[in-house]
Amino acid sequence: MRFDVITLFEDIIKGYCSKSIMKRAIDEGLIEVNTVNPRDYTLDKHKKVDAPPFGGTAGMVLQCQPIFDAYESIEKEDDFEFIMLTPQGEKFTQKTAVELSKKKQIILLCGHYEGFDERIRIGLKPREISIGDYVLTGGELPALCVIDSVSRNIKGVLGKEDSAEFDSFSEGIDGLLEHPHYTRPREYRGMKVPEVLLSGNHAEIEKWRLSERLKRTSSRRSDLL
Ligand code: SAM
Repeated sequence: MRFDVITLFEDIIKGYCSKSIMKRAIDEGLIEVNTVNPRDYTLDKHKKVDAPPFGGTAGMVLQCQPIFDAYESIEKEDDFEFIMLTPQGEKFTQKTAVELSKKKQIILLCGHYEGFDERIRIGLKPREISIGDYVLTGGELPALCVIDSVSRNIKGVLGKEDSAEFDSFSEGIDGLLEHPHYTRPREYRGMKVPEVLLSGNHAEIEKWRLSERLKRTSSRRSDLL
């Protein structure tokens, strides 16, 4: 799986991807994360990529030319998805992450300032994705959310000790919120690990976990039931 991120702030993407599970996935060749900076494509002699909006109002708008050229510079695989990160897009979910994990390439376009000249939407026809109903200063954190959550669903990325299969929202199991976890010690500040988890009875443990998933989901996210 190859990710190409169009961003003015390449270090944000590179920094995150140089740690932990993302780094290991890259080192093992399971994913590849490239960045493309529209500033390298601008024809403006001062390297500007933004301009004030026609019609007034505050803020700056990303211009068409550097974004079109940056996008067109990216080599495309035969099965790719082009995504614009925007608070106005479809809401990103675990289901979307699983769906995207089947692609060969994902191109992510990060906005900044007031956002994009509308002709970027009209001309490049991206799929528009939002990570939630709030506004961030740039598309880099949303792009990293997509890269991270999609990567978790690529075989081999999580290793044996972890699995996306049992995560909250995973339809591979039941789409519920995950059950609680406990680890050593058996007692901490008077709080004990539930007996059933120490029993070695796997059928009982599974029963307990399902009942905890149901309890948790109905109290926190009944819309998932
Ligand atoms: N003026 C725009 C609006 O009201 O829709 C918001 C622009 S925001 C300050 C700058 C950039 O951050 C956006 O172009 C987008 O790339 C990114 N962004 C901010 N919030 C986001 C969200 N919830 N989901 C995805 N991208 C987001």
